[in-house]
Amino acid sequence: MKPAAPKPSEPPAADLAARSLRSVWHPCTQMKRHESAPPRVIVGGEGVWLVDAQGRRLIDAVSSWWVNLFGHGQPDIKAAIAAQMERVEHVMLAGLTHEGVVRLSERLAARTGLGHAQYASDGACANEIALKLSAHYWRNLGRPEKNRFVSLGGSYHGETAGALGVTDVELFRSSYAPLLRIAATVPAPRLRGLEDAAAVRAEVDRACEALESWLRREAAHTAALIVEPLVQCAAGFVFHPPEYLARVRELCTRHEVHLVADEIAVGMGRTGRFTACEQAGVRPDFLCIGKGLTGGFLPLSAVLSTEEVYAAFYDDDLARGFLHSHSYTGNPLACAAALATLDLLDDARLGANAELARRLDALFEPLHRHPRLRHARHIGMIWAWDVHEAPADFARRFGLEALERGALLRPIGSTLYFMPPYVIDEAAAGQLLRATLGALQASLRDGAAAGAQGGQALA
Ligand SMILES: *Cc1c(COP(=O)(O)O)cnc(C)c1O
Repeated sequence: MKPAAPKPSEPPAADLAARSLRSVWHPCTQMKRHESAPPRVIVGGEGVWLVDAQGRRLIDAVSSWWVNLFGHGQPDIKAAIAAQMERVEHVMLAGLTHEGVVRLSERLAARTGLGHAQYASDGACANEIALKLSAHYWRNLGRPEKNRFVSLGGSYHGETAGALGVTDVELFRSSYAPLLRIAATVPAPRLRGLEDAAAVRAEVDRACEALESWLRREAAHTAALIVEPLVQCAAGFVFHPPEYLARVRELCTRHEVHLVADEIAVGMGRTGRFTACEQAGVRPDFLCIGKGLTGGFLPLSAVLSTEEVYAAFYDDDLARGFLHSHSYTGNPLACAAALATLDLLDDARLGANAELARRLDALFEPLHRHPRLRHARHIGMIWAWDVHEAPADFARRFGLEALERGALLRPIGSTLYFMPPYVIDEAAAGQLLRATLGALQASLRDGAAAGAQGGQALA
């Protein structure tokens, strides 16, 4: 690829970083920490690589916060957006429709067995839609008291007030506790360190019993359980087996509580199937997808529901309808990007991903047996390890050391993970491995370099 030297007309990187700190409030960041480590200025991207203003290439090993599936600048997605731009960039979706949103909705329905897609721009808003739909469904059925939610311990469902109410991450939630309606949680299975199948089964049993006893007491007042199927990513890549998800589905059905599958992070092939629910043969009542839906090009999320849900809103009475909207609902450019992404993410690609993941997993062997890493785990295009006796500021320190070595990585607490675009090849993965090993060594050294302080990495 072309090394992207800044054009003479471009402002120097240091200047842009300083202006960014004066004018931009960066997400999920304690801005003061940028005093010692300014944000890196990115000027280009191609495939798994980002290019900074100094012309240094960085492997995007976290898919730019889990959204990028087929690399930066993917030509088919780019062309689809450009072609749509020539027709119409946006129309409101109330009272009007367009081919892109129809085709996308049909294809998502065909792939998931659910229907009547609704659209928002972000994952949090998709979850808001699902939660509102669930409570409104019970209200329409004459059971308005079923309006509470339950989530799993360590859950992450986004940052808006409703989504934060079902999120169980103290750091993100506690400052806003008085503003929220905080949902109950039941413990998720904890598999870390459980080696044999019997121990895993016992832990799954324990988690299912906890959910069942909670449902027995609370189902009459509960609209829905919301889960992140198979992997709770933001919790530090907490995995549960498909069997747990299947039993959760049964329990929800038996106790008349909706199951909301938040597949914002794990959908779109990330776990090896189109949805994670497929791996457990489970059909949720609501399926939320986002992040990778447009291949990382444009903000778009979707909520699909069952026919039963749809039917409960279909009425002569306006107020029984779902009167929810966002300005950019069903944006045609985003739909075009999503359709191009679905074209790329066919069954052949999922098969090729499985093969690639096997090769990468073998390549990452030095991490699996690294003396400071524990609990190596892998599913689809996700790898995670826990750092043993990590220093308190490990995530920040490691992130900066990795950047120095040409890899964009942001550990969550003491959990190191890779979530690369599906187009990473073995050469790039080899570089990622070397950068990771080097950054581990530098950041776990006693009193690691002072130069590696001041960044941040919360998620
Ligand atoms: C990222 C994420 C969200 C929130 O999505 P946004 O697009 O950031 O609002 C919700 N749920 C899960 C599981 C996520 O990983």
